[in-house]
Amino acid sequence: MKEQIYTIPVNEGFEEGGECPFCNMYHKLEKDAVDYMLGASYMEDDIRMETNRLGFCKKHYDMMYKEQNRLGVALMLHTHIQKLCADLEKLCPELKGEGKKGLFSKGSKGEDKVSPYIDGVLDSCYVCNKISSDFDRYFDTFFFMWKKDNELKEKVKNSKGFCLEHFKMLLETAQKKLNASAYEEFIDIVVPLQLENMRRLEKEVEHFTNKFDHKYKDVDWGTAKDALPRAILKISSQKVED
Ligand SMILES: [Zn+2]
Ligand SMILES: [Zn+2]
Repeated sequence: MKEQIYTIPVNEGFEEGGECPFCNMYHKLEKDAVDYMLGASYMEDDIRMETNRLGFCKKHYDMMYKEQNRLGVALMLHTHIQKLCADLEKLCPELKGEGKKGLFSKGSKGEDKVSPYIDGVLDSCYVCNKISSDFDRYFDTFFFMWKKDNELKEKVKNSKGFCLEHFKMLLETAQKKLNASAYEEFIDIVVPLQLENMRRLEKEVEHFTNKFDHKYKDVDWGTAKDALPRAILKISSQKVED
């Protein structure tokens, strides 16, 4: 299949290898999104209004903090906190001396509007939102390519399977996107591939644990040396760095 601009990220995800091509695609999007955030996009009013409202999740605060643009992070945090203060003050008028209006009073239901508001803030992230629409499109593209010809099928067969989360997403999307016979073919290729590779990784992690036993000290590490970060990615989709 001729490479189109929208098929490039999917092909690159598979070419990179490793335990999950979709994690490769996700981490690339994530890095681009963090770079974009700190590349002065926060100076644009419409973006800043959104970051003020949504804030970021733990992981993306952490990633942004590690980038060398502390001023950018500080500017976004400053106006995000301003927005949080203004919203909380609106939700808690009695704390501003405007007379108790029953907020936080016990016994009446539904008075605490603060906890749901905080839940909303904790659950929202500008970077996660930005990534998710692009990432969903990669799944659409994957199935578009899958139906088109055999090139992607070969790439899948030569891959090491997927992380659990993206394996699940593939199974769910396949249900929606493929007709009965194509779905059957997909399952026949992907499920054994996934199980074989989970078993392969189980053996690698076992070998890793054996290497802590002096009985095995002269046995070669083989592929087990980096089995731990690969296993963590396979199970949790989390990329851990040394
Ligand atoms: Zn993955
Ligand atoms: Zn996030």
